[in-house]
Amino acid sequence: MGWDFSTEPEFQAKLDWMAEFVRSEIYPLETLNLDWPALRRAVAPLQHEVKQRQLWAAHLGPELGGQGYGQIKLGLMHEILGTTAYGPLVFGNQAPDSGNSEILAEAGTAQQKSRWLYPLLAGELCSAFAMTERDTAGADPSQLAATAVPDGDGWVINGHKWFITNASIADFMIVVALTDPDAERHRRTSQFIVPMDTPGVRILRDIASMEVIEHVGPNAYPSHAEVVLEDVRVPGAAMLGSRGDGFLIAQKRLGPGRIHHCMRWIGQANRAFDMLCERATYRYSHGSVLGDKQTVRNWIADCAAEISAARLMTLHAAWVIDQHGPAKARKEIALIKFFGAKVLHDVIDRALQTHGSLGYCADLPLESMYRAARAARFYDGPDEVHRDTVARLILRGYTPPPGGLPTEHVPTRRADAERRFAGLLEAAST
Ligand SMILES: Cc1cc2nc3c(=O)[nH]c(=O)nc-3n(C[C@H](O)[C@H](O)[C@H](O)COP(=O)(O)OP(=O)(O)OC[C@H]3O[C@@H](n4cnc5c(N)ncnc54)[C@H](O)[C@@H]3O)c2cc1C
Repeated sequence: MGWDFSTEPEFQAKLDWMAEFVRSEIYPLETLNLDWPALRRAVAPLQHEVKQRQLWAAHLGPELGGQGYGQIKLGLMHEILGTTAYGPLVFGNQAPDSGNSEILAEAGTAQQKSRWLYPLLAGELCSAFAMTERDTAGADPSQLAATAVPDGDGWVINGHKWFITNASIADFMIVVALTDPDAERHRRTSQFIVPMDTPGVRILRDIASMEVIEHVGPNAYPSHAEVVLEDVRVPGAAMLGSRGDGFLIAQKRLGPGRIHHCMRWIGQANRAFDMLCERATYRYSHGSVLGDKQTVRNWIADCAAEISAARLMTLHAAWVIDQHGPAKARKEIALIKFFGAKVLHDVIDRALQTHGSLGYCADLPLESMYRAARAARFYDGPDEVHRDTVARLILRGYTPPPGGLPTEHVPTRRADAERRFAGLLEAAST
C-alpha cells in the first residue's frame, strides 16, 4: 500500500524555511508598489539567497540548474511561494518564464538553449508567451489567425496578440502562429522565438484590467500587453521543435503549469482564510464576536473543507503526473483547474465579506487578491472548457444500455432476479 500523506522531514525543513522567508522578506515588498526596475533590484539579494539554498527554478531538472523534485514537492513549494504575487519571481519560477523555460528545455536546440534558456534561468532575461489573440477565441486555439509564412531560409510572421503577460518588459517572446492551415486541427501551428527588438514587433499598449488597475505602464509588473507583429522576419532556427508542433508543445507546457497554478491558489486561499479567522476572533457585532455567528462558523467550516479538497485533488493530480506523465493526468488536471479556481474565489469572497468595508478597500490585500482571482476562471483555458474535457473523458467509460432501458431499471432487474432466485422464492412461498 502506497497511500502516504506525509512529507519527508528534510523536505519539510525546506518548506518551513520557505514559509518564514516568504513572510518576512517578500510580504513587505507587496506594500511598496515598485515598478519593474526597482522590483528587480529589490528581489536580487532574495533570489541570491534562494539559489544558495538550492530552491531556485525548482520546476526544472538538475541538468538545467533545477532540483528535479517532481510535481508533488513542487506543488508543496508553490503552495507557500504562491501566497504572494512576488513569490514566484523570487524563486525563479514566475509565469510565463517558467513555462517558457520548460518549452525551451523540452523543444529547444542546443543553440536555442544557450542563447535563450540558460540566461532566462539565470534571471538575466525576461520572456513572454504570445498565443491569445484579440479577434479569435483563446479558448479554441485551433482558430488562431496569426500566420508564419516561409520566406527564403526563414519565416515572416503577422498577427495581433493580446493579454501577453510581461511583453513590455520581455527580451523575447515565444509566438504561436499558423504555419499549416490545411493540416489536421492539432498540427496547424508552430512556435517561434521572437526577440522583442525584431523589426515589426510593436507593443500597442499595456492593458488596464481588473488585476492591474493602479499602475499600468511600460514598467509595471505584472503587465499584460497588446502586441502587433507586422512582417516580422525570423530565421529558420527560430522555430521550436518541428513544423506543426505548436499545439503539442503548448499542451506539454500547460499540464504541470496548472498544478503550480492550483497550488499557488491554495496558498492564496489559505492566506485569505487566515484573515477570515483572525477577523472572526475580534470583530464584535450584535452581542458577540463574528466567530460566534452561525453563518461565519459555516463559512469557516466550508472554507476548510473546500481548501482541503482542492489541495488533495491537486496533489493527487501531481502524483499521477509523477507516476504516469502529464498525458495520463488530463482528467485530474482539468478537474483541479476549474475546482481550484472556484475555491480560490469563494474563500477570498467570504474573507472579504467578513471584513466589510475594510475588506473592500485597499487597506487589506483581499480586494487585490479578489480581482486577481477572478481571472483564474479563464486563463489557461476557461472553466467551461475544462468541465467539458472532464465530462468527455468520463463519458468515454460509458455506453448506451442494451435494449434502451437504464442498467439500474428496477422492473428489469427484478425480472432477472426472479428468474435467478426462482427456487428460493418458491421455497419461501411454501
Ligand atoms: C491575467 C491574464 C494573463 C494572461 N496571460 C496570457 C499570456 O501570457 N499569453 C497568452 O497567450 N494569453 C494570456 N492570457 C489570455 C488567456 O489565456 C485567455 O484569456 C483565455 O485563453 C481565454 O481566451 P479568450 O479571452 O479569447 O476568451 P474566449 O475564448 O473568447 O472565451 C470567452 C468565454 O466563452 C466561454 N467559452 C469559450 N469556449 C467555450 C466552450 N467550449 N464551452 C462553453 N463555454 C465556452 C467561456 O465562458 C469563456 O470564458 C491571459 C489572460 C489573463 C486574464
